Amino acid sequence: MRNKIVAGNWKMNNDADETEALLNKLKKYNFTNDVIVMVSPSFTNLQKSVINLSDSKIEVIAQNINGSEKGAYTGEVSPSMLKSIGVSRVIIGHSERRDYYNETDDILKKKINNALNNNFNLIFCFGEQIIDRKNKKEFDIINNQLSNTLLEIEKSDWSKIILAYEPVWAIGTGENATADQVQEMHFYIRNWLKINFGTKISEMVPILYGGSVKPNNASKIFSQPDVDGGLIGGASLISNDFIEIINSF
Ligand code: PEP
Repeated sequence: MRNKIVAGNWKMNNDADETEALLNKLKKYNFTNDVIVMVSPSFTNLQKSVINLSDSKIEVIAQNINGSEKGAYTGEVSPSMLKSIGVSRVIIGHSERRDYYNETDDILKKKINNALNNNFNLIFCFGEQIIDRKNKKEFDIINNQLSNTLLEIEKSDWSKIILAYEPVWAIGTGENATADQVQEMHFYIRNWLKINFGTKISEMVPILYGGSVKPNNASKIFSQPDVDGGLIGGASLISNDFIEIINSF
């Protein structure tokens, strides 16, 4: 039985007061289902958020990490820095980092390895562009993104990894993939895990969907057999919408 997970990707939104206000609304809500909830405030608000949520089951996660342990990397943040403030999970490979900050598969592989070597958990994102889908290349693209970064992962490290399929054309556009498209790709991803790492790992690793998940489409997407939850952008900034999505299982 895999965990059900809903993670909010807050991106570069919310100053200190806004972060506190959103956390206070979320933690007041008494979630009745067994969903693991995560939120990712900006670096400047991480430590305060960990303290604020110390009496809550909501997990605080980071949005980025560097591929090196320490050193002359101005503006960057290492796993040990995050660990020292109580954060031990990070989002890696988001399409915005791939597209705007030129994070290639090689860079992402370094980040993944650095995270795992430091006993970090991670949500690894990947997804095709609209042109890939129009050219019926989406499965090839996903195969490449997974194979270029994850093939050398130790079997024992898979317990630290959540995968997030995020078709780029659905992120922030209001145009979500249909439940059938999501299930088809998640089945492909689970099969990729099975071929490369065996049945046990393929059945254990949670696979989230991300891309315009809203209260009105979450339950249909989450009810697909290979969908274990969602990575939520825009809707995770609105407490009522985020809570409704969490309750959509
Ligand atoms: C995201 O950025 O990971 C995301 C899924 O965004 P949105 O839900 O706004 O499409």
